[in-house]
Amino acid sequence: MTVDAIKETRPLKPATRIGFGWDSHEFQHGVPLKIGGLTLEHSKGLGGHSDGDVLLHAITDALLGAIGAPDIGTLFPPTDLQWKGADSVVFLREAQKRVREAGYALSNVDSSLILLAPKIGPQAATIRAHVAGLLGIPLDCVGLKAKTPEGIGTDNAAIANVVVLLEKRPAGGKPTAKAKNK
Ligand code: MG
Repeated sequence: MTVDAIKETRPLKPATRIGFGWDSHEFQHGVPLKIGGLTLEHSKGLGGHSDGDVLLHAITDALLGAIGAPDIGTLFPPTDLQWKGADSVVFLREAQKRVREAGYALSNVDSSLILLAPKIGPQAATIRAHVAGLLGIPLDCVGLKAKTPEGIGTDNAAIANVVVLLEKRPAGGKPTAKAKNK
């Protein structure tokens, strides 16, 4: 197949689609720490043009990538002043809308956070439940692990890796995964 013959197809064909998202933000003083849509207690927050929510950004990019949509930086460019300090839930909602319009529903999400501090473990259950609520999927469809950045020299940054799986929705039907925790 030549490059010219490869065209985007609508409706999207496979019954399942996978998406991957990665993001990193640097810790800064004077800003709140937002992770997974929650504000966490810490002496520093994550810098960035929006609220710096590294986990929601990676989830957003995973959802967009799963349907072959433009990435978060293309849809919400950091040069655009309207996104300064923006709540990252706005970005997530746009990705969710595009997934719905493409005819898919989110089946499950798995994520790994890499950061030295604060310790995520004690707060993981709360973050996980909040993310499940934002995504409208059951709690057992959200994975969240936290790792420390040993030997990779990123002690002043937070990194998020996310994979998502989408399932095609039946025509005119409801998503296969129903939220139990709304
Ligand atoms: Mg980001």
